[in-house]
Amino acid sequence: MPPREQILELKERMQRLIIGREHVVERLRVLACVLCCLGANSIGAEVAEQPLSAHTPRLIVQITVDQLRGDMPTRYLDRLGDGGLKWLLDNGVHYANAHYEHANTETIVGHACLATGAQPRVHGMVANVWLDRGLGRLVYNIEDPNVHLLTAGADVDGSTEIDPTQRAAKVEGRSPAALLASTFGDELSIMTAGKSKVFGVSVKDRGAVSMAGHTGTAYWFSKATAEFVTSSYYMDKYPKWVTAFNAAGHPQRYAKSEWTLLHDQATYQYGDADDNVWETALPGWGRVFPHSYGPADGKMFPTFLTLSPAGDELTLDFALELMDKEELGTDEVTDYLAISFSSTDYVGHIFGPSSLEAEDNLLRLDRTLARLFKVLDAKIGLENTVIVLSADHGGPEAPGALTELGLKASYVEPDTWDRAPAIETLKKRFGFGEELIDQYFHPYIYLNRELIANKGLDQAEIEKSVAEALTNFDGVALAISSSALRTGNLPDTPILHSVLNNFNPKRSGDIYVVFEAHRFINDFDGLVVACTHGSPWNYDTYVPVIIVASGIAPKTVYRRTSPLDIAPTLAALVGAKPPSGAEGDPLFEVVDR
Ligand SMILES: [Zn+2]
Repeated sequence: MPPREQILELKERMQRLIIGREHVVERLRVLACVLCCLGANSIGAEVAEQPLSAHTPRLIVQITVDQLRGDMPTRYLDRLGDGGLKWLLDNGVHYANAHYEHANTETIVGHACLATGAQPRVHGMVANVWLDRGLGRLVYNIEDPNVHLLTAGADVDGSTEIDPTQRAAKVEGRSPAALLASTFGDELSIMTAGKSKVFGVSVKDRGAVSMAGHTGTAYWFSKATAEFVTSSYYMDKYPKWVTAFNAAGHPQRYAKSEWTLLHDQATYQYGDADDNVWETALPGWGRVFPHSYGPADGKMFPTFLTLSPAGDELTLDFALELMDKEELGTDEVTDYLAISFSSTDYVGHIFGPSSLEAEDNLLRLDRTLARLFKVLDAKIGLENTVIVLSADHGGPEAPGALTELGLKASYVEPDTWDRAPAIETLKKRFGFGEELIDQYFHPYIYLNRELIANKGLDQAEIEKSVAEALTNFDGVALAISSSALRTGNLPDTPILHSVLNNFNPKRSGDIYVVFEAHRFINDFDGLVVACTHGSPWNYDTYVPVIIVASGIAPKTVYRRTSPLDIAPTLAALVGAKPPSGAEGDPLFEVVDR
């Protein structure tokens, strides 16, 4: 490029940088280049040496929106505000074709991938619930008998908890003990000899604990006490500010009020479709606007908060208080705050992603994000902050919504499967029937290994037989035996790779069941819901990845990427080593600055 054109281009870049919110040092770097071109080499060299260290962020904010499918940030683009999702899209690199590569697209599995950059087979979080063969019972991913909650009565209340995986926990203690890899936050702690402050906040315990890693501190929302709580893994006593925050009674401001629409109903894509038969009509909550939170002492009050944008608003209230009181981002040492917003997931389960509730929730999430970015800008400076937004998994459409449009879709009902012929076949071959199966907690079937060993039967043969029988049942696309995964005796297809990426020999079941696309179980232990994610199909693996960092060129990237790239990218940005099991690659659009 001729020097004059080069100068003009640089001038133009300067102009853009001055208008935008770019880092001041980046402006100086461009100025230095301009001066270089003009022959002022010595001044240019002096200024240009500065940017490197100044690129180190003071705070990294990793936002996870539970069940935010990859298409969602742009779905209602024309109705978003300026400071939230649109600001992210305008100022960040938007990876618009990011997919998880594991089969069981559930909450803890995806969160652990985001935190560690590792596959489930390595980080060990293969499901929200798995069979602990040592204990002989199903365990919840972050339950830990060696620790306890710091708040009395904050344990899961089985009578109001709608998430069956939460109810599977047998002890109240929570910790990252079962997470088998280091997280980005852990690596930051190692690099700075513990000087970095590392936190995870969410409504869901697993959304906070996974992201805080082994070295950080996690806080989550107890639906039993309507307070943010933690466990003795992290501390013995709450800091004063947490006690004061909980005493201030933030949830109570929603008491006796309603979740109403943000805008005129006629402006919504689903404005004329609020009442769909496939939506869950929870008693007291209903399936049409307005949704009433009820009185603060109502049994379901805290649960209703989490099923609406209020859950995210309260999560942000707590996160902002934490940022302030723990003085995040106030010195040269990079701090890390992970915020996992859970409302989108609950709303998706109860009403489906294509519902008036989900649409309003997204517009309100956009406002919540805008509030976060505004505070970050005022307190720390967006130029000193790296922001990452992604999701732990996507989500399916409600089968009813699909059939209305002409697609074939329906729920899967294992209770209606005619098992008798399959059991008869097993009995004939092995001398035993149903007793060969210990547990079926989707997606894994666990065989009764003791019985098989005691009778000298061949486990691989039984796995194969059960898997073959399963494929005949309505809704089952594939059933894959773990023996086949162990020996690599499988065709080279993306779905089978995703099942292999999910396979941890100590925790995975003996047979992995994959349902046909657009088909899933919608029975949450008796509660019939609109949607359940957890499949290896694109709608469940597809998530947004948006990263804003000083000095990057905003763009949309359609290359296929993975959320596993996030942790190694953050590590590269601060000069930390990648987490122990990370398999992703630093994203060059972000790190090549
Ligand atoms: Zn979910």
